Amino acid sequence: MADRPVVPLDVQREVLFAARHRCAVCCEPLPLELAHIIPWHKTHDHRAENLIALCSNCHGRADKEGWGKAFLQRYREKPCALQANATPPMSTEQKAIVELIIASEPESMTTQQRMRLVSMVAAYSGVSVREVSIISVTPTNSSKVMLALPEDAARRLIDGFERGDPKLASFFEDFSLLEIRIPDQEDTETRQIMRSRMSWSGPRFVGEVAVLDVHGPLSPGEGTLTLTEACSKLVQSGHTKILLNLAELGGIGSTGIGELVSCYTTIRKAGGHMKLANLHGDVRDVLKLTRLSNFFEFVGEEEAIDTFKPGETNR
Ligand SMILES: [Zn+2]
Repeated sequence: MADRPVVPLDVQREVLFAARHRCAVCCEPLPLELAHIIPWHKTHDHRAENLIALCSNCHGRADKEGWGKAFLQRYREKPCALQANATPPMSTEQKAIVELIIASEPESMTTQQRMRLVSMVAAYSGVSVREVSIISVTPTNSSKVMLALPEDAARRLIDGFERGDPKLASFFEDFSLLEIRIPDQEDTETRQIMRSRMSWSGPRFVGEVAVLDVHGPLSPGEGTLTLTEACSKLVQSGHTKILLNLAELGGIGSTGIGELVSCYTTIRKAGGHMKLANLHGDVRDVLKLTRLSNFFEFVGEEEAIDTFKPGETNR
């Protein structure tokens, strides 16, 4: 080790993130080491593409048992943490909300940084990246990041912070965590986003396409049909091309995600097609992180309507 240069920090981060902060082969989150796919002495190649994150056990075995380039490359491309996650979540299990106070400006929380943070939280608290979502990032004296994650994972995270677990600090690397806590129960806005169904208006029709405009969370007592019921009613009355316009949707929680999935499955079962238009900000990030972007299409409204036209391929 002494005779080789240290792997640059940004490369280390890229490699750890590629494996979602777990061993790329066995999913073990600690302790992680960077291993060369083609041995260092052969190529002196320190680029991210030639590095893979392995736990110390797998790293030792890879050397001893000669796992080889092809094997390691396969796991570099499809790491353990991403292997079981190729399907969309079909249930909305009970989630807890946790607030992370991080000593950095909200502007520095780019999409890439947010994804890294989610990956670290998931690896530390022992759940899949798909189960953790960022609800909001807001300025306080620093950045307040609101996350939704399964209740037991939230407990592990808070417990780790409260007992000063050194592993927690090593997981979060360059994010300096000032506090992890359950948000104030008074923060009803967030609770409402998490728990609420989405309100909607419409349908309006553009040619054959039925457009539902989805707004913020539904206030208690407001509205009659749920979004899923509205979609179901549309397909039953023969409208198979349905576009959800999310331009006015400011945030989305597990209930809202559940509704989108349920609309999608309802419409698909009836042989119809559903697309999403005008996603922005946190909503887009949340759907990307939950990997729902593989199932829905993100387009502007006009382009979306064009893709529904006869002769175009529908998915
Ligand atoms: Zn391993």
